[in-house]
Amino acid sequence: MNSFDHSRLDEDELLLEPEWVLLPDGPARRHAVLVRHGVFAEVGPSEAVESRHPDLTPLRMDETLLMPGLVDTHHHLTQSFGKALVFGEPSEIFRRVWVPLEAGLDEESAYLASKLAALESLRGGFTTVCDAGTRMEPDVGVVAEAASDAGIRCVLGMICNDLRPDGGHEPHDAVLARAQAHLERWDRHDLIHPSLAVSIPEAATTPTLAAVSDLCRSRGAVFQTHVNEHLAAVERSLERHGRRPLEALFDDGILGAQCLLAHVTLLTPTEITMLRDSGSAVSYNPVASSWKGNAVAPALTFAAQGIRFGIGTDGTRGDGFRLMDAAETAQRLAYGAQTGDSSTGGGWTWLDHATSGGAAAAGLGGVTGSVTEGLAADYLLVDLAVPEMLPSWDMEWELVRLANRDQILAVVIGGRPRLWRGWPVDWDARQLMEDARRRAQKVVANAPVHIVHPTAGEHRRVHRAHRPTRAPE
Ligand SMILES: [Zn+2]
Repeated sequence: MNSFDHSRLDEDELLLEPEWVLLPDGPARRHAVLVRHGVFAEVGPSEAVESRHPDLTPLRMDETLLMPGLVDTHHHLTQSFGKALVFGEPSEIFRRVWVPLEAGLDEESAYLASKLAALESLRGGFTTVCDAGTRMEPDVGVVAEAASDAGIRCVLGMICNDLRPDGGHEPHDAVLARAQAHLERWDRHDLIHPSLAVSIPEAATTPTLAAVSDLCRSRGAVFQTHVNEHLAAVERSLERHGRRPLEALFDDGILGAQCLLAHVTLLTPTEITMLRDSGSAVSYNPVASSWKGNAVAPALTFAAQGIRFGIGTDGTRGDGFRLMDAAETAQRLAYGAQTGDSSTGGGWTWLDHATSGGAAAAGLGGVTGSVTEGLAADYLLVDLAVPEMLPSWDMEWELVRLANRDQILAVVIGGRPRLWRGWPVDWDARQLMEDARRRAQKVVANAPVHIVHPTAGEHRRVHRAHRPTRAPE
């Protein structure tokens, strides 16, 4: 039984000796990790690291795994008030729920919604979230403030649509000026990494799409957009341009290593080649596919083709272990079962893409994503002393299939403990929950959201009313 608490983790120089460390090549025993000023300063066999630092008292942790924090490559932090409104909804929820809901956010509600989402992410083991942008009126700085106050690392997308749903448009130069200012504003922030986004390709003209993507390329930022997610969007693109959304982006020279494309579930073999040849990254969002999608992205094909990808929640639920489980299960049911592929990534694939692969897709490969010297000390301490993880034969696969967020003892970002046993160490999460609960009710009541599907209770009543009654014998 370990007897330390989070205060031990908050030291400028800390020598950690957990029973297991998840290294880039897999779990290792008898390894030590030296954290200095928020960075993994040394990682190696315990004896060697200890002998170089006789002055430091190692923090030994039995039956504990130190692993990299998870990276959620697709999120919308401002949408957390609506996450339980969209169950059973048909595709393109953004038109009926997200756009109206975001339009109803003021500064305070946007802050509360974002901080609530960040808290959920932290509790689910995410140390980085990639926000794909919000169409709300208040400045996106409020999302940065919420993420920063919660203590989570955030790739912060700002929407650069020049076409509006009402037919209006913002001048190209004005969009680019906003884009430049956003990249400069967060340039040196230690937790906020600026990014630019276009909600869906049809929300911007081709010159603006190209210019925004180019700006990201030249500034080392990530360009985000939602592509080939729904049949309706693919067909709209075919009708308007004679090309599918991804084909149009490829032909117009918009794709490249700076791109992080969300969903990308409806792919032709030609488009898979375009993804590979352009070097674009994908956020594979398996829970979003299950809850509202038309298809499951061929992530195993991405892996086999060397297409860069991370795994994203899309704001469904901020639970990293369940996300990895869904990532594997969706591939198995959508692809592996038909071809007799019982391995379906072998466990490690999902762990890698939820950590280092996700960081690389989010443009943070040089910042976070693995327990590697020189990277930020973004890590989780996971309690292995639970019946679900015993006996252990294959830890990586066990983390994907068996582990649970209640095993996360600590969430540490940039060397600072942010959560201890599920709760923030330096701010009042209960107060936030209370404020968010009150505020969410008002925001949802006032937003013109259009929900098609009834709640479970109403659905049960309707379903029962239509059940055939058995004829009397
Ligand atoms: Zn999204």
